[in-house]
Amino acid sequence: MNYKLQGAKQHLITILQSKGIADKNVLEAFDKVNRHLFVESFMEDQAYKDIALKIKHDQTISQPFTVAFQSQLLQIQKGDKVLEIGTGSGFQAAILSAMGAKVYTIERQEGLFRDTQKLLEEIDHKIFTFFGDGFNGIPQYAPYDKIIVTCGAPNIPLSLINQLKINGLMVIPVGEDTQKMIRITKTSENDFMEEEFGNFIFVPMLKNTKTIN
Ligand code: SAH
Repeated sequence: MNYKLQGAKQHLITILQSKGIADKNVLEAFDKVNRHLFVESFMEDQAYKDIALKIKHDQTISQPFTVAFQSQLLQIQKGDKVLEIGTGSGFQAAILSAMGAKVYTIERQEGLFRDTQKLLEEIDHKIFTFFGDGFNGIPQYAPYDKIIVTCGAPNIPLSLINQLKINGLMVIPVGEDTQKMIRITKTSENDFMEEEFGNFIFVPMLKNTKTIN
């Protein structure tokens, strides 16, 4: 990694701190993971700005602050089993993995799924990638300590709450045009508590899968 990108990365970490990211585990993960590897090479120079960027297959890599904020809300402990809905570029999954989580991530677009699966195998082979509709979660590996949704959900899918351990946390942006960041704490088998953490804008969570044909 060249000095220019290295410097830009350190600067990004100070920006995240100034915006309220205090979890050391999150900040260290942003040092460990190279965001420029998750964008197309002609966009490398933009990779350490605190902005969302377009990636292939008409999708976005979330803004670094948003990734850091959701990661902080999840209160990741080493060894946590985490389900991510919306693999996208794979950057959020790589951050959680660098924080010590065991990450299962699912993407609904087959082309993007294949590209990111290949990239993650090169960068971080500990992440488990799946192709499918995240509305169903990944029941075969449930229950999870934490669930993170990285697309704007129309509502809170019950199927996902069902795959959460008791005392587990789910962070999910909910809403149509803009989303409210919601954190769910599953308090018992049939009950959960909700907290709200401000407005964000995500690409929509869509039903079913989009296959390559
Ligand atoms: N976590 C990603 C953010 C990508 S944007 C990153 O770090 O780059 C959100 C992603 O969610 C998109 O790739 C979109 O295709 C995907 N998505 C939308 N609805 C989905 C669903 N129902 N199941 C799985 N993925 C979905």
